[in-house]
Amino acid sequence: MKEWMKNVRTVEPYVPGEQPKDANVIKLNTNENPYPPSDKVLNAKLDLEKLRIYPDPEVSALVEELAKYHGLNNDQVFVGVGSDDVLAMAFLTFFNSEKPIFFPDITYSFYDVWADLYRIPYVTKALDDGFNIKPEDYKEANGGVVFPNPNAPTCVYLPIDKVREILDNNRDVVVIVDEAYVDYAPESALSLIDEYDNLLVVRTFSKSRSMAGMRIGYAMGNPELIKALNAVKFSFNSYTMNYSSIVLGVESVRDDAYFKEMIQKVKNTREWFCKELTRLGFSYPETHTNFVFASHKSVPAKAIFEAAKENHIYVRYFNKPRIDNYLRITIGTDEQMKTLVEFLEKFIDNYS
Ligand code: PMP
Repeated sequence: MKEWMKNVRTVEPYVPGEQPKDANVIKLNTNENPYPPSDKVLNAKLDLEKLRIYPDPEVSALVEELAKYHGLNNDQVFVGVGSDDVLAMAFLTFFNSEKPIFFPDITYSFYDVWADLYRIPYVTKALDDGFNIKPEDYKEANGGVVFPNPNAPTCVYLPIDKVREILDNNRDVVVIVDEAYVDYAPESALSLIDEYDNLLVVRTFSKSRSMAGMRIGYAMGNPELIKALNAVKFSFNSYTMNYSSIVLGVESVRDDAYFKEMIQKVKNTREWFCKELTRLGFSYPETHTNFVFASHKSVPAKAIFEAAKENHIYVRYFNKPRIDNYLRITIGTDEQMKTLVEFLEKFIDNYS
């Protein structure tokens, strides 16, 4: 081994879902929105002459718009380059205890990657057999707690009284609730941030706002949490968010009618698709997200995943303990889901 190699930080990186080059695939593997962003975004005028100068390091326009939208003060909002950036920054800012942080055993697979990257000790807490988070597991002393609500890739929602139970037992550490999919769920933990000064709620524009390509995420919480996040961000990179993301992000927030309409559209398709899955012999936990986590009673998930891919339909398969017989299927358009159902029907019929 070369001497310098001893000082290289070695990490097992996160593996994102495949982004196929072929434009003709039905892409249901990364929980993107099948509908375009709002017309306000599509028709926004970008003053590209502005690219000459650095963007606003405080991202004020977007912070203000989001604060207004959520009924908060500007000092309660932090904006980052996708919620991955916000979460990575939050891990670095808030998880500095020698005690382990806690998160579920089946969850967003970036959490253990960031913990390893920043050398944060962690312990995972097993979901129950229905893939529910058990709040009683989060009572022991720890260095912080993080979980998505609804959880991914399981699509299971933790009711707010249970989120509150976790918060009540963790008053002395930061609790991060990753609400990437909350717009498809009954209730957000945002209403709790005044009561719990240690609660950070993280959101993204990548799913319900159809702007995964723009990379916009944000966090909301007590001004002291936001101040601490900003201090770390400004110690890392002042100009995280580019000019066009700021302008287009603001336009998206301004079109609430379209936002709500697209959420409803996805929910309607989800309802139809879930019934079809039941008819075809799949079981799945109740979904409160823009995806379903489904397992077939007789056909292995891996076989379906591979065959679907050959038929240009991409879904997500995780070869991991407890979930290796499940498929995570993003809700696409009605037409896309019909094509998938037709494929599943044929494949399952012919499988022996
Ligand atoms: N949290 C969860 C639970 C997710 O599934 C994702 C999407 N991969 C993210 C955060 C990150 O999303 P983004 O960086 O696009 O905001």
